Amino acid sequence: MYNPYEIREEFPILQREVYGKKLIYLDNAATTQKPLCVIEAITEAYTNVNANVHRGVHFLSQKATEQYEDARETVRAFINARHRHEVIFTRGTTESINLVAASFGESFLQSGDEVIVSTMEHHSNIVPWQLLVERIGIKLRVIPLTADTKLDVEAYRALFNEKTRFVSITHTSNVLGVTNPVKEFINIAHEHNVPVLIDGAQSVPHKKVDVQELDADFFVFSGHKIYGPTGIGVLYGKEEILNRMSPYQGGGEMIQTVRFEKTTFNELPYKFEAGTPDYVGAIALAKALDFVSAIGIENIAAHEQYLTRYALEQLKEIPAMHIFGQPDGSAISFLVGDIHPADLGTLLDRLGIAIRTGHHCAQPLIDYFGIPGTVRASFALYNTCEEVDALVAGINRVAKMFG
Ligand code: PLP
Repeated sequence: MYNPYEIREEFPILQREVYGKKLIYLDNAATTQKPLCVIEAITEAYTNVNANVHRGVHFLSQKATEQYEDARETVRAFINARHRHEVIFTRGTTESINLVAASFGESFLQSGDEVIVSTMEHHSNIVPWQLLVERIGIKLRVIPLTADTKLDVEAYRALFNEKTRFVSITHTSNVLGVTNPVKEFINIAHEHNVPVLIDGAQSVPHKKVDVQELDADFFVFSGHKIYGPTGIGVLYGKEEILNRMSPYQGGGEMIQTVRFEKTTFNELPYKFEAGTPDYVGAIALAKALDFVSAIGIENIAAHEQYLTRYALEQLKEIPAMHIFGQPDGSAISFLVGDIHPADLGTLLDRLGIAIRTGHHCAQPLIDYFGIPGTVRASFALYNTCEEVDALVAGINRVAKMFG
């Protein structure tokens, strides 16, 4: 195990106050705070190795390229991809899904084809596919939830037909904090020869992910949710599918030769990395993954699961508390009586407690519950039981104000 109190010291922002109160940061599903080593990695890259990658013969360009490609290897090892060139750097989960939707759509989908998503998807795993409904005429099929708010496996099985071409589902819900048995969902899709994308934005920071073991065809996540910088993320894809997909964006780096008559494209992963990549972001992301690995993702998972259980036990004691779904990971969504989530969030903020309120970019799920939104507390490796106690005390205080 590790000591979360000691680890906190490595996160400068956690030392600050808001409204004269100690900051209690429980909005980690939206973004995580950054350890000093990640902040320093950004400064170090710009201070000592900054030069455009891949194109220069000079010392700095080679150094930057070396570190950028080392970062790719760090990501590969972190998710256990088979090949380094199966790791494509993007701006984040959203861009990764848009890339797959646009490129797979152009290469393989036609009018009437069906793509399966689920009721608990983030907008970034709905809207890119909806764009294909408009552009190509595909149909979206939606996995419903069971009475206990889990993905309905039997209903999922029944969605498959000869028109099914793709499945895109989330590993862990950013609203419910529930982790879906995605391996089972992938196996079912593969029985029908249908590839699967797993949205790992909320799973990779909290549990060990092995893309080969999952047999995911695509796996995507964002750097900023795993202690890395904003603006950098990952698309993992199986080599054989990526090779058959058309490029997403055109520009420098993704080409082999450009003639006005015909352009040929670069090999993986560069075919999907048009323009100057965020090499500094990638280098700092690798630092964040090394930081996580040094603590041990299993240790982080154990700590966060303990915190979640500890929080659930106490939250359940609050009168008129309604917890949505069965959180097993790091996020808990709830409402207290008829207190509007925005009111609860604003008043908690005044106590120095940062939580998120609203639809969490998952409006179809919020509509399914027929509510205006939820309050969501989400944990990271540096949160403590005292912070959970403060959250519970804060909610009790606000609930009293509302009678
Ligand atoms: N998918 C899930 C499950 C998320 O929680 C989020 C962000 O909250 C996203 C996708 C989008 O991530 P990003 O905004 O980093 O692209």
